[in-house]
Amino acid sequence: MAGKVYLIGAGPGAADLITVRGMRLLQSADAVLYDALVQPEMLDYCPQAVLIPVGKRCAQASTAQRFINKMLLDAAAKYGKVVRLKGGDPMLFGRAQEELAELAAAGIEYEVVPGITAALAASAEAGVSLTSRGLARNVLFATARVGEGEAGSDWVKPVMAADTAVLYMGVRQAAEVAAALLAAGMVPSTPLLIIENASLPGSREFPLTLAELPQAASWNLAGPAILLIGEVYRAKLALAEPDVRARFG
Ligand code: SAH
Repeated sequence: MAGKVYLIGAGPGAADLITVRGMRLLQSADAVLYDALVQPEMLDYCPQAVLIPVGKRCAQASTAQRFINKMLLDAAAKYGKVVRLKGGDPMLFGRAQEELAELAAAGIEYEVVPGITAALAASAEAGVSLTSRGLARNVLFATARVGEGEAGSDWVKPVMAADTAVLYMGVRQAAEVAAALLAAGMVPSTPLLIIENASLPGSREFPLTLAELPQAASWNLAGPAILLIGEVYRAKLALAEPDVRARFG
């Protein structure tokens, strides 16, 4: 008896930012495999389920993706209704494709339930629209991070071309990101916004310029953080103090 697996987007963190469909599936799940970025409060929706942490957080102890795939297949074989709960939206920087391919290859039925991705939660938190009439008519979701053993990625070109760019997993590598963008000719005074812990208590925002970005690597932000780049953030910058190090360092 093979069960069915639901890949569900948990949203950015706040327990009430999962979809109603996702919450209902959690409430009736037999087993739930969840990521490190999923907040414990969300698991209150599924006290009946067997909970299986498959923690993954860059630079922290993580379960290798291959092992996660195997755990997913095992759970599908053992339990009827399995939820794979992933931070944000499963289809953005969540390695969903690999998990779906494994399920398909094993002939296991699956369904994907979308979630609110970090870029959207961060924009809501900041109160700054990703698009703006006459200023920003396109948005790029990108990452500068390249997994071990993978070929390099040319993330710079699309970021340079985008009106608004959102970089996932980019804050830890802030120095490299800044250097690459400056080398490509991005103006040092370009406004940026870093949002940490969007939708969660203790969320913080850091308006800064591209020239100030290298400092962000040393802030050691504890929560997940996302980097937003573009003219739409200039107003935030104008309101902030000029000395980033003094404010956040
Ligand atoms: N699938 C997820 C992204 C996973 S990659 C989604 O759709 O949101 C993990 C990255 O997402 C983090 O490094 C960070 O850049 C971003 N992120 C996730 N949750 C966040 C939050 N609450 N606030 C800010 N950034 C977040």
